Amino acid sequence: MKLNELEVDCDYFEFAEKFYQKVKPQPLLEAHLISYSKEACNLIGLDYEECETEDFIDFINGKNFLKNSIPYAQVYSGHQFGYYVPQLGDGRAINLGKISKWHLQTKGAGLTKYSRQGDGRAVLRSSIREYIMSEAMYALGVPTTRALALIGSSSPVYRPYEQEQTGAIVLRLSTSWIRIGTFEYFAKQDDIKHLKQLLDYVIKNSYPHLQGVEYSYERFYFELVDRTAKLISQWMAYGFMHGVMNTDNMSTSGLTIDYGPFAFMDNFEMGCICNHTDIEGRYSYSNQPYVARWNLEVLAHALKDVCDEKKLLEYLQTFISSNQKHYLELMNKRLGLDIDLAGDSNIDLVLELLEALEVSKCDYNFFFWQLTNLDSFDDFSAILDFVPYKEALLDWLDKYKEIVNKQNQDLKFMKEIMKKTNPKYIIKNYMLQEAIEMAEKKDFTLVNDLLKIAQSPFDEHKEFERYAKPTLNKFANLQLSCSS
Ligand code: AMP
Ligand code: MG
Ligand code: MG
Repeated sequence: MKLNELEVDCDYFEFAEKFYQKVKPQPLLEAHLISYSKEACNLIGLDYEECETEDFIDFINGKNFLKNSIPYAQVYSGHQFGYYVPQLGDGRAINLGKISKWHLQTKGAGLTKYSRQGDGRAVLRSSIREYIMSEAMYALGVPTTRALALIGSSSPVYRPYEQEQTGAIVLRLSTSWIRIGTFEYFAKQDDIKHLKQLLDYVIKNSYPHLQGVEYSYERFYFELVDRTAKLISQWMAYGFMHGVMNTDNMSTSGLTIDYGPFAFMDNFEMGCICNHTDIEGRYSYSNQPYVARWNLEVLAHALKDVCDEKKLLEYLQTFISSNQKHYLELMNKRLGLDIDLAGDSNIDLVLELLEALEVSKCDYNFFFWQLTNLDSFDDFSAILDFVPYKEALLDWLDKYKEIVNKQNQDLKFMKEIMKKTNPKYIIKNYMLQEAIEMAEKKDFTLVNDLLKIAQSPFDEHKEFERYAKPTLNKFANLQLSCSS
């Protein structure tokens, strides 16, 4: 469809007005298109050629609106680094309505009632990061919000200790923007009517099969526990770190949302911290399952007046084992092993692998790619040649070979599974940094190239062979600031 044929539905105005603000975006200066995603256009039925028009830029920039669109910002609260903050909200994101199941939102679109000390803007750097990573996660099969387009501008934006930057806007899509923090805010109101209304809303949008079902509120919670356990297992298996798992950045639909100082780890490191401001490592790689569980516990408390809290907390006890089960399943696929044949010995094999990877300072995802492409298990040089400290990994590989032989797997079949699970390309922070530095000089080719790689990471991209190599040590596991 053409842009001016698209029609949105605004389903948030059923809530009392204290839960949102109708607010117009404040356009950026000299806005220009940086990139759009054809794949994401398909989600909302937009002809992608439309993205080449001035009207499209004006639409992203908040100068013109889709049919029926009434822009608004949502209020929420949340626990930030463990401390409750009574009021947060869309301080720089503005919702534009919904097309089929996709809620459209522009991030960096200007001030709202919930901006607090913020300026309502997003800098180019963090916008490029979110834009590419949403699509990369999707292509890996990890539940996530999506990104449709990215525009830049000449509007100056200032961040502490940094040179002047420019504002950008990402058009992002989600089946829901409701966070655990949204429930926390609603729960703080004095009547349970609002909380039930929010539950009904989330169930309608993200758990439609639970509509009209008995105990649907409890069932919603149970299913979110399951979805989140699986989601975090996928993060862990691919070495993804979110960086700021505050309850306001945790989706109640089981999606990855609010990309900040995230990273796919380069070299494996159990305690890796990607967020420079996370001094205590609350959101370190290995803490992620436990933090997710903590966040879900906060949600259980928020629901105590409308659910049997004891039942929720009882169910939450399944979280870690469910997370580990999914994690092992995925790790076994990455190793090409049959989890049913392996039993408990498999857990040891995975744990020993992690130890060996850490000791050997091995690039995590590169390891799986090389393993997938070994010609035989008699020669591991294709892996070991890239590893500074080989011994531990060599021992592990010998053990792995033994198990492969014991499982008597058809090598070709094994490889098929591994090829579907182990991407050739993983979007690492140094690549994003290269794209950002070029984009800051108005060259957007690498943003668009990385998007292409991100969207088809299992394919060959001959011209980008260099991105399929281990990260150079000087760029590995660098921390990022939260400033965005
Ligand atoms: P985040 O850490 O990005 O998840 O944001 C936490 C809270 O701060 C949310 O309520 C955001 O809307 C708000 N926020 C972050 N950056 C800005 C900004 N530049 N302007 C206004 N609000 C912001
Ligand atoms: Mg956030
Ligand atoms: Mg953020």
